[in-house]
Amino acid sequence: MAGTSLTDARSAELYARAVQRLPGGVNSPVRAMRAIGRDPLFVERAEGAWLWDVDGNRYVDFISSWGPLIHGHAHPEVLAAVADAASRGTTFGAPTAAEVDLAEEVARRIPSVEMLRMTSSGTEASMSAIRLARAATGRTTLLKFAGAYHGHLDGLLAEAGSGLATQGIPSSPGVPESATAQTVVVPWNDGEAVAKACAEHELAAILAEPYPANMGLVPPVEGFLELLRHQADACGALLVFDEVISGFRVGRGGAQEREGVTPDLTVMGKVIGGGLPAAAYGGSRALMERIAPAGDVYQAGTLSGNPLAVAAGLTTLRLLDDEAYARLAATTDTLVAGLRDAAAGARVPVSVVSVPGLLTVFFREEAPRDYAEAQACDHEAYAAWCRGLLARGVYPPPSQYEAWFPSLAHEPEHLELTLDAAAAAFAELSAGA
Ligand SMILES: *Cc1c(COP(=O)(O)O)cnc(C)c1O
Repeated sequence: MAGTSLTDARSAELYARAVQRLPGGVNSPVRAMRAIGRDPLFVERAEGAWLWDVDGNRYVDFISSWGPLIHGHAHPEVLAAVADAASRGTTFGAPTAAEVDLAEEVARRIPSVEMLRMTSSGTEASMSAIRLARAATGRTTLLKFAGAYHGHLDGLLAEAGSGLATQGIPSSPGVPESATAQTVVVPWNDGEAVAKACAEHELAAILAEPYPANMGLVPPVEGFLELLRHQADACGALLVFDEVISGFRVGRGGAQEREGVTPDLTVMGKVIGGGLPAAAYGGSRALMERIAPAGDVYQAGTLSGNPLAVAAGLTTLRLLDDEAYARLAATTDTLVAGLRDAAAGARVPVSVVSVPGLLTVFFREEAPRDYAEAQACDHEAYAAWCRGLLARGVYPPPSQYEAWFPSLAHEPEHLELTLDAAAAAFAELSAGA
């Protein structure tokens, strides 16, 4: 590979051991880097925007642990808050003051989340939000969008994006037909398909990532989220926004604030845990008081509201002021403009799609409007370009179906290095083509 000065002997050694004991050598599929045709890099440590692998190679990291690390790696204030919490005990199985602080902080940012319940993962949070939506409506059928990912719960593993899209698994063995029989899947940005589904099924909920980022970033077309709100109201379904990625990232109040469309329930994760395992679901007091022990809908968790995770999440949120969001938006814009220029300079046809704090480089001239169009991108070219970036010290999401996660730790020096690497990797691609 031209431009490669890196060795990965230690990573290769660890991978050889890992595949003997961990399926595919990893604990979550996309980390294996199969979609870009290489073996995974094992991480030694990270700080700010930098990540070091076990062979001593340094990368500008753009996955930010897939979203939680909006302040970059090992932020001193987040670490101090976690250490302080840990010094008082790691888990109690009893309530703590910080959980109340966190719920209040979230409610100030997202007014539709009057009450919330914490869980340990986004998967659990969407599973629980669905249970609540079904209990509240007395219906069972769910509407989801092709290419949308809401975690790995059985009922929603139908045309899910992310690792599944990457792996080309339309659904998964082990998921009974009865589990997905209650799930209707329609194309994203297709208002007619939504209206038809609402007319034909008694829907409990319409589930959407308001800024879908698990088929690459495919924002809603003008008016589409309003249409979802309208259809949900018209057919008596709840509108559930999965803001696990967009929440606290695209702005103070997430996508619902930016787009001015208010869901009935919101699923949160990633940033809310500040890099530790925490997620949540929330909504109006009337709906959330259905949850046990206030109400009759059962849901629980041994480590839910874990003190370390709450400390990390609360500190992460408190650091996210207006200045931080303005800076993250500016960083995203700089990257987007630079990546477009770099591709144009090498005559590689791409579309760079973004919202503040998220972007995807699609290897396709026109930005995809739905999952089918995202699937039609040149995935081979994307893979080769990513390998070129890694060889030049930039760590991109190793799949066309994922978004880049710029963070507040990305300074001009990191962006410059990234754009130089991107230009060189594009040039290498067009020279090889
Ligand atoms: C990551 C993600 C989830 C699942 O969260 P986990 O913590 O990985 O279970 C759910 N929804 C969206 C939109 C996500 O990006």
